[in-house]
Amino acid sequence: MSRLPHGLERHTAHRSGWLRAAVLGANDGIVSTASLMVGIAAAKTSTGVVVATGVAALAAGALSMAVGEYISVSTQRDTERADRAKEEHELEHFPEEELQELTSIYQRRGLNATLAHEVAVALTEADSLGTHLRDELGITDSNQARPLQAAGSAAISFSIGAAIAVIAGLAGQIWVIALVSLIALGLLGAIGARLAGASLVVGAARVVAGSAVALIVTFALGRLLGTTI
Ligand SMILES: [Zn+2]
Repeated sequence: MSRLPHGLERHTAHRSGWLRAAVLGANDGIVSTASLMVGIAAAKTSTGVVVATGVAALAAGALSMAVGEYISVSTQRDTERADRAKEEHELEHFPEEELQELTSIYQRRGLNATLAHEVAVALTEADSLGTHLRDELGITDSNQARPLQAAGSAAISFSIGAAIAVIAGLAGQIWVIALVSLIALGLLGAIGARLAGASLVVGAARVVAGSAVALIVTFALGRLLGTTI
């Protein structure tokens, strides 16, 4: 296996954030929709009712994911904005303290006092606000909170996952819903593991096993309620 020169290795952590979120969203969409459909189907209902349940689960899930994501990322963005304003204020009014603060950060990261001071001075001259946001607060352009984007991608990825379960439901067979869902979940688990740099087989097996439990539990509940009520 050929190795790239150091510095050119493929680092996926920065770029794959949204992709990992999309994989998790699709995962959620399949598990929750398929489980619900299997539970309803186990109660001996018609294919039409099972598919309608799946479509309702898709819409409800996608909207709830979007709203949840919008709220959580908006909160994060508000915090970032407040931090930015506070930092701007401090840089303007307490430049010496801020330089000292930056110097201590670089010392904690392993630079000696002289070098840390030199780096802090140079970076303050280059871009004081950007440097403080990045090295003090961990905010960079690439990880800035974007609520609408986060809400949209959560809803879309959930819908794609849920649609797989709904389409499988058209076959009118519980085992088809379960099998198609577990295969899709296995693939997603492998993709998720690949993004995290972990073992594909372990990643896929973990997701499939966890989802199989969800399907079995809802099947059992549906069967129980369908025969007793
Ligand atoms: Zn600062």
